[in-house]
Amino acid sequence: MAQGNKILNLIGGELAPPASGDYFGNEDPAIGQIYSEVPDSDEKDLDAAVDAAEKAAPVWRNMPAESRAQVMNNLAALIEKRQEEFARAECVDNGKPLSLCRNIDIPRSIANLRFFAEAGKEMEGETFRAEKSFSYTLRQPFGVVATISPWNLPLLLFTWKLAPALASGNCVIAKPSEITPMTAYMLSTLAEEAGFPKGVLNVVHGRGAKIGAAITRHPKIPAISFTGGTVTGKEIYGTGSRLLKKVSLELGGKNPTIIFDDAKWDAALKGALASAFTNQGQICLCGSRILVQQTVYERFREEFVELAAAQKVGDPLEDATAQGAVVSRAHMDKILGYINLAQEEGGDILCGGRRLFVKGRCKQGYFIEPTVIDQLEASCRTNQEEIFGPVVTLLPFADEDEAVALANSTPYGLAASVWTESKERARNVAARIDSGIVWVNCWNLRDLRTPFGGMKNSGVGREGGLRALEFFTEEKTVCQPAA
Ligand code: NAD
Repeated sequence: MAQGNKILNLIGGELAPPASGDYFGNEDPAIGQIYSEVPDSDEKDLDAAVDAAEKAAPVWRNMPAESRAQVMNNLAALIEKRQEEFARAECVDNGKPLSLCRNIDIPRSIANLRFFAEAGKEMEGETFRAEKSFSYTLRQPFGVVATISPWNLPLLLFTWKLAPALASGNCVIAKPSEITPMTAYMLSTLAEEAGFPKGVLNVVHGRGAKIGAAITRHPKIPAISFTGGTVTGKEIYGTGSRLLKKVSLELGGKNPTIIFDDAKWDAALKGALASAFTNQGQICLCGSRILVQQTVYERFREEFVELAAAQKVGDPLEDATAQGAVVSRAHMDKILGYINLAQEEGGDILCGGRRLFVKGRCKQGYFIEPTVIDQLEASCRTNQEEIFGPVVTLLPFADEDEAVALANSTPYGLAASVWTESKERARNVAARIDSGIVWVNCWNLRDLRTPFGGMKNSGVGREGGLRALEFFTEEKTVCQPAA
């Protein structure tokens, strides 16, 4: 789809090269080679996108919600028709297994568009009757808003932000990650056919420090929805708050998986494994600290390590692959750096711990063995900082109180999973854990209507369902004398 493998911006309905004419390379991490070029967009591109969005704003906001929904559903249907093409593109761009792209990333991206197309029709105001007055509220779009998304679930998170912004009547400046821009570009090529008026959906590609920072300080963008790392989030929040922008932040995690000795054994083992290594451990919701009750610690360690070591790591295009490449050389080096740190901190590497060299076409790809570490203090850096790779630590605990204390011992608070057959214990522990979501006897099950977000360093605000639509709208009270 990219002409001469050059990705283009979508600005005012036109697919356009960056104003500067500058591009940088986009790598396929499974083979360690550049295969396409990303626009190195700057303020000129952004100004053009904001101008186009401002012009389109009255058209889109005045369109009935049903008509906006129809356009979004058209886009979903166009992606669905090309599902395999999108899945392959996501696999190549990110390094994740093709099976994951087929079963999760692309279907969920389509579902995001459809879900918010419907939800947009449900937005309601309130009415207040008093003796002397009658008031009602209106929820109105900002006009122009921005979304900034990360590389780990490229199209899934791009659409998770884009869809509520559009459904609530806003024109959007959307910036995908420069590390995985391809499927956002492919989506942008379908906007016209879906029926989006020119300027409603604008996609600007480029580096975070350049175009991302320009979006954050742009005076005509009053609201920004961001998903990414905590350090970036703090920077965006700092600039955004000085300019009184509305900012939503979905940030990093260091999530606990808590296994009690009364858990259903096989389900808990498999759940902990999926939570540790799905998407190469590169999901903000991955359980990277596995807390296991002392009474079953040894048995769990033995069986978990056996399963982890048996994970099939390799070419993400192959059906049998469970774990593909991590997203880039820089990210691989960061993960390997954390494994070294774990050893310096006294950790015992029970399996993995090294870069894996895969034979054949992927011989220069960025693969890491599934890695399990124990014997570390809960307070050490390995157990406190987000690694975001196929690396987990095991920690024993004596009882419920210690499990909760360990779960809450990091600066993050995004997600947790608790494995127990005791309903009472599940309720107690869920109530005491500081995180935006607690799964009981499951992991990564999502109902798109529920609130989603993090506590502490994991974020500010909640997405999901009506909350996302609320974020992208201003609430206005209209008051008149009672009749
Ligand atoms: P990142 O913060 O490096 O980049 C995210 C996005 O922000 C990219 O589009 C990037 O170009 C842009 N960006 C970078 N610097 C910027 C700046 N100064 N100003 C404006 N924009 C800037 O994150 P990443 O490495 O792409 O993603 C991984 C991180 O995302 C992990 O920490 C992960 O936990 C987190 N994440 C969180 C959630 C969640 O829902 N809480 C979901 C997925 C990923």
